[in-house]
Amino acid sequence: MNYKGLKFKCGLEVHRQLSTHKLFCDCPSLVNDPAKASSIITRKLRSTRGETQEHDKAAAYEAQKDKTFVYEGTKDSSCLVEFDEQPPKEVNSKALTTAIQIAQLMDCELIDQIQFMRKTVIDGSNPSGFQRTALIAVNGTIKTNKGKVGIESICLEEEAAKKIKTNKDGVTYRLDRLGVPLIEIATDATIKDPEHAKEVAELIGMIIKSTGIARQGIGSVRQDVNVSILDQPRIEIKGFQELKDIPLVITKEVSRLLEMDKKKKVWEAHVRKSNPGGSTSFLRPMPGAARMYPETDVETILIDKELLDSIELPELISEKTLKLEKQYNLPAHYARILVEDDNFTSFVDTFSSVKPKVIAQVLVEVPKEAKKRFKVNVTSEHIREVLELVHKGDISSNMIKEAVVDLAKGKKLDLKAYKGVTDKAIKDAIKGILAQQKEPSIGSVMGALMQQFQGKLDGKQASRLVAEALK
Ligand SMILES: [Zn+2]
Repeated sequence: MNYKGLKFKCGLEVHRQLSTHKLFCDCPSLVNDPAKASSIITRKLRSTRGETQEHDKAAAYEAQKDKTFVYEGTKDSSCLVEFDEQPPKEVNSKALTTAIQIAQLMDCELIDQIQFMRKTVIDGSNPSGFQRTALIAVNGTIKTNKGKVGIESICLEEEAAKKIKTNKDGVTYRLDRLGVPLIEIATDATIKDPEHAKEVAELIGMIIKSTGIARQGIGSVRQDVNVSILDQPRIEIKGFQELKDIPLVITKEVSRLLEMDKKKKVWEAHVRKSNPGGSTSFLRPMPGAARMYPETDVETILIDKELLDSIELPELISEKTLKLEKQYNLPAHYARILVEDDNFTSFVDTFSSVKPKVIAQVLVEVPKEAKKRFKVNVTSEHIREVLELVHKGDISSNMIKEAVVDLAKGKKLDLKAYKGVTDKAIKDAIKGILAQQKEPSIGSVMGALMQQFQGKLDGKQASRLVAEALK
């Protein structure tokens, strides 16, 4: 597809939860509180005029559904702030400094007076009918393989409550997730094609993760995609959790828009949600500026030199990965995985007689293989125990996999079984083979050795000894 010819325009909005406590109270960032609800309230929400004295279209659309909302709170993950029965406390300073770090890593201009706003949200996901959000920075850039992409804005906001049940009269929400700090990053519309959108989302994710306090796991990240073609109104697609789905959904949406354009259909800008399989469906009208008004319960925050001087920039995961790759001469895909596994450097330091490359290979490959072939789960403790034995010389380094898998299967290690083969035993065997073969070659002797020792032979060790014998 010629995306340039289609006047393809595409921008992303990436939302990522932070693992600090909540943004305006001391409740933890606990989005799946297993505890039973300790307090329940029921509310109806209606649309009010925003700062521009107009009703927001999206808010009005939701209000006309006249739903009843039920909110479940639990003792440990929600307090009066979530129920909107008590004013917000001071803004979470860790969340704020993280937002500033991210802005600096993306070369943004920081806003020097941060003002939280109330954004009208009346789908029920906020008991107060609004979500607090503040613009932190604007006009940044990130460098991708297809050129620079602009960062239009970085906001710090409150996560919405989690929908747990829907019926014909209304919706039940849980308040554990409400108020968890959320970083929202919006790019400009210069993304060049569907694959590029995925790269941009990955890059933004990596930068946020580099701060060390991005929440991990299901639901911790969401991407919205804005797309338009042929100068037509833009479509926003919500609800991607998986990066890998981005190219497919955009490709399908572009085909849908092209089809509409061919049939001379007209459409207004609106929000759609992504469905399994890559299709999209109408969600609601596009919200406008009418839904914002200042939050007067939260003081304006000055971003002064003192605050900025106290913030240190974290090293990017991409830079750490390159370093790791070079320092230990690792394949790039190993480095990408191991940069997020503290066990690697810790094992390399502790078990200095085992080659880092061997440790890397064990950490990356053995758990995968054990799961696939033997249906057992290898833990880092299994690996640690075996590496220790290799380090002490109790078992051969080419028997690591067997030993780790046996441990994971719950077997007791019989050290003799993992001894491997000594130089002497191989040399003796080579002598015997040479006495039998008329025209020995490296290949023929290796073949005979392999047969003799079955899987226990270290190929490198054996070929070194065979080469010596044939010299
Ligand atoms: Zn709270």
